[in-house]
Amino acid sequence: MTLKVLILEDSIQDMELIKAQLSKTGSQIEVTHTDNKNNFTEALEKFQYDLIISDFKLPGFNAFGALEICQKICPGVPFICVSGSIGEETAVELLRKGAVDYVLKDRPDRLPYAIKVALEAVKEKAAHSKDEQALIESEDRFIHVAETAQEWIWEVDPDGLYTYSSPMVETLLGYSPDEVVGKKHFYDFFVPEEKEKLKSIAFDVFLKRNIFRNYENINIHKNGNHVILSTSGSPIFNDHGILKGYRGVDEDITDRKRAEEKLKLLNRAVEASNVSVMITDSDGKIIYTNPFFTELTGYPIEEAVGKSPRILNSGNQSRKFYKELWDTILSGKDWTGEFRNKKKNGELYWESAIISPILDKNGAVSNFVAIKEDITERKRIIDELSTAKEKAEESDRLKSAFIHNISHEIRTPMNAIIGFSALLSEPGHSEESKNFFTETITQSSNQLLAIINDIVDISNIEAGIINLSKEEITVNDILQRLEDQFSLMSRKMGISLQKFTPLADGEARILADRTRFIQVSSNLINNAFKFTNEGSVEFGYKSREDKLEFYVSDTGIGIPSDQLTKIFDRFYQVDYKMTRLNQGTGLGLSISKSYVDLMGGEIYVLSEPGKGSTFYFTLPRCNSGGKEEQVFKEKRKIKLKRDYYILLAEDDIQNSELIDIYLSSTGLNVHKVNNGAEAVEYCRSGKPVDLALIDLNMPVMDGSEATRRIKALYPHVTVIIQTAYASETDKEKAFSSGCDDFITKPFDKEALLSKISANLTKK
Ligand code: ADP
Repeated sequence: MTLKVLILEDSIQDMELIKAQLSKTGSQIEVTHTDNKNNFTEALEKFQYDLIISDFKLPGFNAFGALEICQKICPGVPFICVSGSIGEETAVELLRKGAVDYVLKDRPDRLPYAIKVALEAVKEKAAHSKDEQALIESEDRFIHVAETAQEWIWEVDPDGLYTYSSPMVETLLGYSPDEVVGKKHFYDFFVPEEKEKLKSIAFDVFLKRNIFRNYENINIHKNGNHVILSTSGSPIFNDHGILKGYRGVDEDITDRKRAEEKLKLLNRAVEASNVSVMITDSDGKIIYTNPFFTELTGYPIEEAVGKSPRILNSGNQSRKFYKELWDTILSGKDWTGEFRNKKKNGELYWESAIISPILDKNGAVSNFVAIKEDITERKRIIDELSTAKEKAEESDRLKSAFIHNISHEIRTPMNAIIGFSALLSEPGHSEESKNFFTETITQSSNQLLAIINDIVDISNIEAGIINLSKEEITVNDILQRLEDQFSLMSRKMGISLQKFTPLADGEARILADRTRFIQVSSNLINNAFKFTNEGSVEFGYKSREDKLEFYVSDTGIGIPSDQLTKIFDRFYQVDYKMTRLNQGTGLGLSISKSYVDLMGGEIYVLSEPGKGSTFYFTLPRCNSGGKEEQVFKEKRKIKLKRDYYILLAEDDIQNSELIDIYLSSTGLNVHKVNNGAEAVEYCRSGKPVDLALIDLNMPVMDGSEATRRIKALYPHVTVIIQTAYASETDKEKAFSSGCDDFITKPFDKEALLSKISANLTKK
């Protein structure tokens, strides 16, 4: 490095002397020589020198002046005065004014040393000012950072008293830095309930000189609110390693805490919810499902995540359905609707769903959220309710139709009975006309009875109080009788009637209730005639393994296919529009079906509108004996002895007369009384009584009371109770009175006689 030196000297010899000394410094020297104030000043202004050497005394100028000029133009450059003796005081004054050294001309060899010292001093000063600059810059930087940071930056002394606070303290705690620095300790802000605990933890940290991070503490804002701060800090030491205090940062976490709490709450709500929650990314891939989703669908979250919600697709919804769904949510709107979906185990279920798109800050769809509720059970109940409602409405409609029909069905025979009875009492009708009147009255009465029987039957079926017997029945005989019975109708209507009984008597046997079997068969044959205008009616049976399959087929109007099962419902009748075909009550088939069901069989129909219908019913076959049938035949052979005495208790005069005629015509002795009391009285009179036929409902004393008394006094007297109502309570009432048997009104002559005969022959 070349050392640039400016010399102010008016003596040539002295100048050479200085140069000689300079060469001894070992450095490369570049010298500028000046000898007066002007060229000295000019040189300084033009050039930057490393060292200035000046004589003390010059013409009209001296070293003080030169020093003054130097301090103005280049204050940092070392100034050495080389001169003859100037006196100690002047020399000291010169040094005081800023010269770095003073060398006597008679001791020139001191000059290199003085130069070395001066240059080192310059160097050191330069270095020192660089450090100072760096320090200032660093401090500026710290202050800048601290004052602009979003966090609160602070320093405290070892006692915790604030020595610095950034302005952020005002935002966080409501105090200005002036109110904090030198006035507050860090623990002054803590909530009272935690103050001591937090303080001792903090001083423990101070004691150990530890660094601490994200230390949560609750403080009180100047306005009284609680503020949660997260504090981090590290110790500051002085040059001697002694703790000067702590410096650190506090940040704004109350909102974060609240947000975290809110998030936790939402999370708990979703996790514990009883609706299924599914979140997908914008491509529709599942990224979250809640526990209820797993409970409902059977897919664990690990299995569902990454898949498409298509895993639940049961194929029950159309493409159009899904297209509408996607169009809606992709347009940013919510979609609501119902799915029939499939669980992992293949089971189908119904869910009601709301699917919402979640938009990011640019308005683009980032996720979809599906919230779904299992509505399988609700759907089932609604379906059941609506079926029940339809059924109730249908049943209501049928009942109205029934009432309408029944009134017609009752009035028609009733009119005939009343009309012809009135005619009978008029004089002057021929015997032939009277016979016709009587026949019509009988027919109409039977028709009326049939209707009443139907109503009683259906009521009993509804009340569940039907008891069927199980008898072994040979059917050929019965079918023969049915053919006889319907042959008249067949001839009258011009519709042929055929019977098909392919099995021998011993083979053609079923286990059933005889009366009900006959009732079902005759009902079907009757319907066949009723709904056929021309052609034929055929009935019979075929063997079907352990059953006999009975059938009644006709060439009638047939039944529309959608009503084939409905016709077995109570009161149901096919609507034939304006025709008068649907006479009847709509009960026959329903009664028949109930009886066939109860007897362990099935009833069904095949039909083609316009061509005809075939009704089928099956009943279990039986292959043993045939005793019942024989017993039945035997019973009928018994003839009643003429000398039996019958006591008849009946308050209704017509009934009493009718029964009297039935019994007297067979030669039995009949005595009539009007109530229970008279019946008991008659027995007491000692007159002969073999059998008492007692009505249940009578004035003065009813039938059960009379029976009880008669049986108590004369146990050998057979008592048969007759009643118009055959309810279970009636039966119980009758039998508990001690009667021997029971007969339901109305009954015909044959039924009454066989009942009496059966009881008398027991004796
Ligand atoms: P009802 O004959 O008193 O109306 P049913 O219960 O016996 O009551 O029959 C119900 C309905 O079934 C009838 O009204 C009729 O519409 C239809 N039906 C029954 N048997 C036949 C048949 N052989 N051919 C055509 N329709 C029939």
